[in-house]
Amino acid sequence: MMKFALAGNPNCGKTTLFNSLTGSTAHVGNWPGVTVDKKEGVYKKCAEPISIVDLPGIYSLSPYTPEEVISRNYILDEKPDCIINIVDATNLERNLYLTTQIMEIDVPIIIALNMMDAVEKNGDRIEPSELEKKIGLPVVAISALKENGLDELMSRAYEVSKQKRIGSTVLAGTELMHLIGDCKIALEGQKVDNALFHAIKLVELDEIEVKMHPESAKMVEEFKQTFKDDTFGCDFEAIVADSRYKYISTNYSAVVVKNKKSEGQKLSRSDRADKVLTHRVWGIPIFLLILFAIFHLTFSENFLFIGYGLPEGWVSLEGTAAEGLFGEGGINSPGVFLQSLLGLATDSITDAIRTAMENGAVAEWATGFVCDGILGGLFSVLSFLPQILLLFLFFSILEDSGYMARVAFILDRIFRKFGLSGRAFMPMIMGFGCSVPAIINTRTLADQNERTATLRVIPFFSCGAKLPILTAVAGGILSLANINNADIITYSMYLLGVVVAICAVLLMRNTTMKGDVPPFIMELPAYHAPQFKNLMLHLWDKLEHFIKKAFTIILVSTIVIWFFSHFSWSWHYLPDEQMNESILANLGQLIQPLFTPLGFGSQLGSFGWVFAVAAITGLIAKENVIATFGTLASCVVSGFIADEALEGVDAIEALIGATGIGIPALIAFIAFNLLTIPCFAAVATAKAESPSKSSFRWTLLFWVATSYIVGTMIYLIGEWWWTLFIILALWDAAITLIVLNNKGKIHLDGAFATLKSKLGKRKTE
Ligand code: GDP
Ligand code: MG
Repeated sequence: MMKFALAGNPNCGKTTLFNSLTGSTAHVGNWPGVTVDKKEGVYKKCAEPISIVDLPGIYSLSPYTPEEVISRNYILDEKPDCIINIVDATNLERNLYLTTQIMEIDVPIIIALNMMDAVEKNGDRIEPSELEKKIGLPVVAISALKENGLDELMSRAYEVSKQKRIGSTVLAGTELMHLIGDCKIALEGQKVDNALFHAIKLVELDEIEVKMHPESAKMVEEFKQTFKDDTFGCDFEAIVADSRYKYISTNYSAVVVKNKKSEGQKLSRSDRADKVLTHRVWGIPIFLLILFAIFHLTFSENFLFIGYGLPEGWVSLEGTAAEGLFGEGGINSPGVFLQSLLGLATDSITDAIRTAMENGAVAEWATGFVCDGILGGLFSVLSFLPQILLLFLFFSILEDSGYMARVAFILDRIFRKFGLSGRAFMPMIMGFGCSVPAIINTRTLADQNERTATLRVIPFFSCGAKLPILTAVAGGILSLANINNADIITYSMYLLGVVVAICAVLLMRNTTMKGDVPPFIMELPAYHAPQFKNLMLHLWDKLEHFIKKAFTIILVSTIVIWFFSHFSWSWHYLPDEQMNESILANLGQLIQPLFTPLGFGSQLGSFGWVFAVAAITGLIAKENVIATFGTLASCVVSGFIADEALEGVDAIEALIGATGIGIPALIAFIAFNLLTIPCFAAVATAKAESPSKSSFRWTLLFWVATSYIVGTMIYLIGEWWWTLFIILALWDAAITLIVLNNKGKIHLDGAFATLKSKLGKRKTE
């Protein structure tokens, strides 16, 4: 199959174009570094099917970043039939810098002049045909977003791909051209492909090139001795870069006719917003406030805090079928309203099925299996779907508007001093969506130690699958504490994850995972109104993923759990009342004591094993935690409430009643699940992205230890507040020791080494 590759700067619209051409739904974000590995799809509207590859965004073909290495190697080694060089027309000069490098390769190229809709909106004008004449490559104006000009782009690309093209360079008139020519001849003598490209990279003394052709590199070094430029001395790399920019601004800039007025206005509007949003002092508080507003809209049952002033029961519709739909005591936020609506539907489905089965004289165990086992578990998870989708809608808006890029920028300013760059925060923030792509995104980090440290804390950024745990347990806490604001609890737990992540990554960066902090150069993308289509794509993606998971992993887990909780070791069916003698209960009771320090272990008595089992099933998929509660709760309380499906929050409340678990233990339970080993998929990705097997083993240990320690701390402080001071003192002592050690005042490293060698000796003795 023919192969076309999309190459261009970060954030120029490659993935948007890729999605439009191939009908795929790859992730589009208004910040650089979203696509890190190449993605492939098929375009079918040409005479033959064409494979389209979306490469990571790059500013140059020099190996400064991992993305640049991936894209460069792809173009040189895989030899695509055509390169579609996407150029952001609102930022022509900077984007053409990459073009001047790609054109040096012997490959058919077409320029896709993207974002033409934005150019027109600004009142600017760019004439594609003029640019085409000047640059000597075909140019097609498009809007990837509005899907304008795509057919023309592809049909011309197809034409172009059928012709051979020899690389050309804009450096022809410069003082280095002679040297470039000599290198080229030398390389051609060695039968090297793309001799012009390699010759120029050699003259730049590019790392990869020097390693590949040491002989020719010597030639460049020798020439260097005899050469002196007035401004750049003999820094050939700088001379080449400068020549490219000069050429671009003298030759191509004339193509753009700027509307002077709008230019100034637009810039200042984005700048003015940034003055506030990225303010040194207010940047972080504003971010926290925006985040809280989002959680409030999604989770609060006391919307805008007006509930306290309302007359009792005025929105609760007490006694009607829709009781509690709009609120009870307070007013429901949109998220809770949607959740209640879905709850009404699922409840009536379960009730209808139960009635039908009972009337049809189906065996009691079968009714229990279908209604409590399968439906209880599935609907438990499903009931959180509206809130998950709403939360992701808000996150997508933050991302697509360009605000998330600012957050990475603000965080960089604060944490750079402590060994953490803004680049590391980009994958972490992506972790709010799903850990899997976020862990893959750590490839953008050049320092291996920073990458490992970042990879380990990504799961602490709570993903969509952990949301049901947070929400359901938060609901239980509310009923214990008798308040209405679940948003405060979910918000705090999200922040807890972030705080633990930052503390842990800083600890690692200053102890076992030290390393340079590479400079963080990121151009902040212009703010723009989020694109409706893009938002819907994100939501659709989430929905599809969720439904698929619900009817595969979660469904199977639910069935397995129901069976093991209703059969004894001798394979006798056990009715609900005897569940404590089941296989699952026995296994749960075995591990239950492990969780005693966290407050949900032995102290919970005979039903406490449910929490232990739930925590373990969460290792397969985090939604399983709540599905497990849904499946088991109706059995736990069958003595109290008869014949009612217990889902989500109701299930937790039932378990609270049966076990007497308190608020500190419930929070510790959330924290444990939030911080412990993530789901199967994330673990497999972490393994694949780890530098070595032992590093991955440490990662697993790190997850277990962190969740256990943090969970224990929460339980201790919650039950005995004065333990807070002991924990703070220990933390303080640890930090002091690390700081002193890093300053060279004391020598912990040496002490550990001695200890290790002593232990080693004892072993051999
Ligand atoms: P990539 O980093 O090159 O893959 O760029 P993306 O495809 O992720 O797009 C970056 C941002 O530019 C997103 O917010 C897109 O919605 C936006 N974008 C992409 N193409 C266009 C376009 O043709 N016009 C406008 N106005 N925005 C676009
Ligand atoms: Mg992309």
